[in-house]
Order: sequence, then C-alpha cells, then structure tokens
Amino acid sequence: MKATLVIKNIDNLITLKGENKARTKEKLRDIGIINNGIIALNGEKIIYVGEGNLPPHIVVDEDTIVLSGVGKTVTPGLIDSHTHLVHGGSRENELAMKLKGVSYLDILAAGGGIHSTVKATKEASFDELYLKAKKSLDIMLSYGVTTVEAKSGYGIDDFSTEIKQLEVAKKLDEDHPIDIVSTFMAAHAIPSKYKNNPDEFVDIIIEDMIPKVAEKKLAKFCDVFCEEGVFSIEQSRRILLAAKEHGMGLKLHADEIKPLGGAELAAELNCITADHLIAASDKGIKEMAAKGVIANLLPGTSFNLQTGKFARARKIIEEGVAIAISTDYNPGSCPTENLLLIMSFASLIMKLTPEEVITAVTINGAAALGLEEKVGSLEVEKQADIVIFDAPNLEYIIYHFGINHVDKVIKKGKIVYEKNI
Ligand SMILES: [Zn+2]
Repeated sequence: MKATLVIKNIDNLITLKGENKARTKEKLRDIGIINNGIIALNGEKIIYVGEGNLPPHIVVDEDTIVLSGVGKTVTPGLIDSHTHLVHGGSRENELAMKLKGVSYLDILAAGGGIHSTVKATKEASFDELYLKAKKSLDIMLSYGVTTVEAKSGYGIDDFSTEIKQLEVAKKLDEDHPIDIVSTFMAAHAIPSKYKNNPDEFVDIIIEDMIPKVAEKKLAKFCDVFCEEGVFSIEQSRRILLAAKEHGMGLKLHADEIKPLGGAELAAELNCITADHLIAASDKGIKEMAAKGVIANLLPGTSFNLQTGKFARARKIIEEGVAIAISTDYNPGSCPTENLLLIMSFASLIMKLTPEEVITAVTINGAAALGLEEKVGSLEVEKQADIVIFDAPNLEYIIYHFGINHVDKVIKKGKIVYEKNI
C-alpha cells in the first residue's frame, strides 16, 4: 500500500494504543510510547505505526511526504471536549471586579457575566460570530487541537440566537480543518424574564427547543448548567430526559460551585460526561465510576475564578472514573484557547502525571465526544489526526508551560498547520 505521508525516526511516538474506550486508573498512564517510531498514512487514514523502518508492503515513492521526527514528540491530535466556542463580545471589564473578590454568582446576580455575552451574541451577525469563532479555531489548531466541542447557550430564551450559534458551528465544521461537535445548551442561565418562574423556561426548552434542534440535527449532545441559582437537579433531570428522548447524548455542568448532587444525577442519567465537579461529593464520584461517566475537568476555569478550589482529580482517578481535560474556552470564566496551558495546570495544580494528562486530551477526550472509534489514538485504520511537537519528550511539553511547542499539525492526513519560526 502506498504511503502519502510518513513521519520517521520519531524520538517519542505516543500512540495511546489500546482499547477504543475511555481509560481509567493505571490505564490512564499506559500511553504506548515507541522510541525511534515511524508512522505512515494513506490519505485520511493511518496505515502503519511501529518502530524503525517501514515493512515492505508500505510503499514510499517520490510523491510521499517524508518528515523527520528527530528531536520530536508525536501525539494524536488533541481534543478539547468542552468549549463555548461561538459567542459575541468579551468580558475584560469584569477583571477589576474579580480582583476585588466579587464572585461569579454575584456578578451574574447583578446582571453581568453571562448576560452581557448573551446580549453581545444576540447582536452579532452570523458572519461576525463565524469570523470570531474561526479566529479561535485557528489559534486552537496552532496548539495542536484537531477536534473541538462547541456549546450553544448564549441565546438562552432567544431561540434564534441559539440556532445561530449552532449553525455557525456547523458551517465552521464544514469549512475549518478542526472537526466540531455541537452541544445544545439553552439551559445555561435563567433569563431575567423567567427569574420568578424558571419552570416556565424549562418547559419551553423541553417542548419547543429540544424537538426543533433534534429535527434540524444541529446538536449531538444536550447540556445543562446545574447549579444553585441556575438549574436545579429536578429541572436538569427533566431537560436531559427530554433530550435523551430526542436522541441526544447527555452532558452536565455538575457541582462546579456548590455540591448540589450533579455528579449523582449524571450517573443516574448515564451522561457521557459530567463537567467541572469541583464540589462533587464522594458518593457522586463513586456513582460516576460505577456508571462509566467521564469526568471532564476544567482547571483553567478554577484558575481564572480565583477560588483556589480545583476538582479532586487524584480522588476521581483513584475511584476509577475516566477523566478528560478541556479548556472550557468561554469569554467569562476561561478566556483562553490554549489547551497546552490547561494541560500544564492539570499537572502542576491537580497533580496529574503527564501520561494521565495526554490520555485525558486524546483517547479520553475522544470518548467524551463519542468519537473513540475514530480518533484519539494513533493506530492503523484510525483517522490521521497527528501533532508533531518540537519537544524531546512528553514531560517537557507539560513542564515548559505557557509556550506553544507545536511544530506541525496533521488533520485527516494533511499538514494543516506549520510553525513558521
Ligand atoms: Zn462550560
């Protein structure tokens, strides 16, 4: 078989070889490193992964692109499985309030926070949202990200804005090298109009919005911000059960600030992920492990909110829960597209090993989006989404933090990003 692209003499080829499912416990650290590795692609697919030279049945000719992996670390394309990619405006004006110690929920209660992004997103045209999100995707790609989850949720009760966000994500999925998986999240905040009767808004989401989003096939998943002062456990349950009936996968912003029982609810409903989990209870964590719910951890958000509280990642791993790590890129609580920085936070602050971190942003990130059969590891037949890091080993990438170590990004077998210095 002909190879269209080969990377040879790779110092550290991190394959994540193994079962196509979210890894737990010690399997989180089993990342399938090959020294002096070689990988061959044919079109969009990987056709060989091994050590040393290619076997005779893989043909290299003058059309084959051959890259050197000397001094390089090669990984699967990174997966950012929790972002609020499509939105209008920015919120740097909240910085001064944050520095004075005003909390997220207090900024929200004062009509700031998400409400200002809702206004900016509503006012932005399709093209404005498209160009802003495209710029973010270009940055993400430069940091080695090849698959991104994107949530709606800045229209809330303005359904046309929710649809506009999802349609922008759909168009970008078609136009941009990064694959985008969409999540419907009108249940992101209680609109001021429904402040005294939030159940009325829950009914609208269930009866009007979810059926239409499902019919238009605009979202693979549905998500709810389950939190004190936002959506209660019972309201979250009702919304997610309705989404399930319409064929959507389920996600939950769970126990971010208060221990409401979000982790328990995610387990009860067999959610694919429960995200944040900073205040998750021991019981909730155990129930997630029993049901195979993936914990999507977002340390950049904890860092930015300056509460000093991070998800108990070590405890979550010890209990047998699979972890993913994401940016939570959004204009309020985590305005960064830099997944490599978040990976360093996961290690330096949440005490994850570099092996656990890379697993959390590759095969486990893929599993968090239901894509584990297709991407997330470097194995024959999988889609050729690959990052070449200008770094001698994995530890170096995590340790030398805040820096972009990406040399090249390959998406579906094509070089789509190259560092130009
Ligand atoms: Zn989020």
